[in-house]
Amino acid sequence: MKRTFMSLHATGPQANQTASKSLYQRPMMDSSQGSYEDIRELNEDSNRVMDGVFHSHLDEKVRPYIDLIDSLRLIGIDEDMSLPTIAVIGDQSSGKSSVLEALSGVALPRGSGIVTRCPLELKLRNLKGGLHWRAIISYKDESIEFTDPSLVDAKVEEAQNKLAGEGVGICDELISLEIFSHDVCDLTLIDLPGIARVPVKGQPEDIGQQIKSLILSFIEKSETINLVVVPCNVDIATTEALKMAQEVDPEGKRTLAILTKPDLVDRGTEKNVLEIVRNQVIPLSKGYVIVKCRGQKQIDDRINLAEATRLERDFFTRHEFFSCLLYEEKATIQCLANKLTQDLVEHIKKSLPMLSEQIKKQLWDMRKGLSLCPAGPPMDPQMQKSYLIDTLTRFNDKINRLTSGEVVNDDNMFVLLRGEFKKWKDHLDSTKATFHKTVQDVVNEYDQKHRGRELPGFSDYNVFEMVVQRLVALLMGQAIDTLRVVRETVQKQFTDVSKTCFTNYPFLQCVTMNKIDNIQSKQEAKVEERILEQFEMEQLVYTQDGIYFKTLNETAFSAEGEKASASEDNCAGFDSRSKYPVMLRAYYEIVVQRLADQVPMLIRYFMLKQSAQLLCAEMLGLIDGATVSEVLREESHISRHRFDMQNRVDRLTLAQEKLSNFV
Ligand code: GDP
Ligand code: MG
Repeated sequence: MKRTFMSLHATGPQANQTASKSLYQRPMMDSSQGSYEDIRELNEDSNRVMDGVFHSHLDEKVRPYIDLIDSLRLIGIDEDMSLPTIAVIGDQSSGKSSVLEALSGVALPRGSGIVTRCPLELKLRNLKGGLHWRAIISYKDESIEFTDPSLVDAKVEEAQNKLAGEGVGICDELISLEIFSHDVCDLTLIDLPGIARVPVKGQPEDIGQQIKSLILSFIEKSETINLVVVPCNVDIATTEALKMAQEVDPEGKRTLAILTKPDLVDRGTEKNVLEIVRNQVIPLSKGYVIVKCRGQKQIDDRINLAEATRLERDFFTRHEFFSCLLYEEKATIQCLANKLTQDLVEHIKKSLPMLSEQIKKQLWDMRKGLSLCPAGPPMDPQMQKSYLIDTLTRFNDKINRLTSGEVVNDDNMFVLLRGEFKKWKDHLDSTKATFHKTVQDVVNEYDQKHRGRELPGFSDYNVFEMVVQRLVALLMGQAIDTLRVVRETVQKQFTDVSKTCFTNYPFLQCVTMNKIDNIQSKQEAKVEERILEQFEMEQLVYTQDGIYFKTLNETAFSAEGEKASASEDNCAGFDSRSKYPVMLRAYYEIVVQRLADQVPMLIRYFMLKQSAQLLCAEMLGLIDGATVSEVLREESHISRHRFDMQNRVDRLTLAQEKLSNFV
């Protein structure tokens, strides 16, 4: 059994049998039928079987091309470039929708005045197997699926009202109606608003121009076959649609004219119509087809499409002037469908090299774009997890290298820190002079201001201890300041690592920043407490005797050129008050040394070393805690961009594969 493509059995018993089917059905053919020539002879009065033979023969040659374009459209290539399509243009009420309806088997909104107000892309998809009729209408962001064929009309109208507003306005946004049915072939047709000359009430003055430029945007594409619909009962030479088609396609290579309403032709003008159909008046290389669709009365009488097709053939068979056109293959919707298929296939064949070229170029551009786009996380959840582990490990590794002194960011962190610690030391040194002077003042003024119950010549240790306590306590402010600055520095360094490691993951970056901030705050509080404790301890005014004498000998006496040296066994000679400034200066020197190291060590240990350990541990905790996909959520525009590009590359690659069998 052979399948036939686009054959319609308009007369004879099979016509009824296929009554519910449209033009594009594929009825089975009886294999007992004879050869092409035999049948031609046998069926002179009807080309029913002849069509079948003709088209089953055509099928094998045509089908792959239609399928190719259809599959390209299915994978979405029409988003990247225009694919061969058929656009229907004509004056208002010339019968465009009626022709489309007859071709597609789908009832479209029809009537007088402006009915088609948005371009309607009719994507017909042949259903195989036991699936049921369904349609998807999409426009703007909406996409509605329905399963009742009688709803098409209402759905299209609803869409038009949403896009162009209720009333008589037009809109150039496309409504796409995808119909899956056993009774259609894979074909895409576009119904366009009819050309209006005079605006009706409620329409803008330039409606004619608006409609024309909308039509133009479709018919000027070299990928489009233009179906120009002209009623028989008007002067064809004056029709705007034909003029427009001629402008964009002067040689008529992709223009096919359709004469409608032959039943309404003026008596006596039939001969003129015949001349036109025979391409003798305005010649087009693709020529003319005359069709008769359902008139208003037939619609009111609920004559279905299949019945209408039978009536059409009856009409031509019986027509005094037009019956000959049946044999010339210039009449009936069925003939139009045949012609259209052939034209479309020819057109597709011609377009293929260009399509292939375009695909190649776009692929190249997209691949380049993709290579410049940072790679994202893998799609597979398991892979995603190990990707997250890798990403976090890389971060931790960088943090560890940073804390152990490697230069990871733009600045060298240890240079920055050393600078801060040096400032601290400089500050300590700078206070020595004041300390010395203060002690000296106390010594000088001792008898007047400080002397207690002791006999002259004796001194109260307390007085001097308090001076030391007071002056050392003053250093704390600067210690805390150093802590603050270092915290800022470390926090910035950690944050910089997070930024470079998690560039495309705003969520991860945010989580990390919060962790860094939390840890730094906690650690800062800890260090502050330690510094406070340190300064409380400094109130003890303590050092080992050995250290004290060592410092005293090294600094004080050598500086003052004293001969005698002090030692643990020989401290009796130093109870004299005049020696106090020198002695206390030695102690202060010890304090300075102690604090100069102690404060930076506290800060470095808690703010850097321990912070880094805590941060790394918390980061690894992310692997088990949060949802991986959530943690790896990307900056939406980056992921969308990459996703779009990847999709395009995928479908272009697929398209290239499909095309490679043809070009
Ligand atoms: P459009 O505005 O170009 O889409 O035209 P329509 O398809 O809506 O048709 C306009 C009117 O002409 C409708 O009432 C149709 O029923 C009617 N019509 C279309 N084709 C024929 C035809 O061949 N014969 C007759 N008598 N009426 C037709
Ligand atoms: Mg219409």
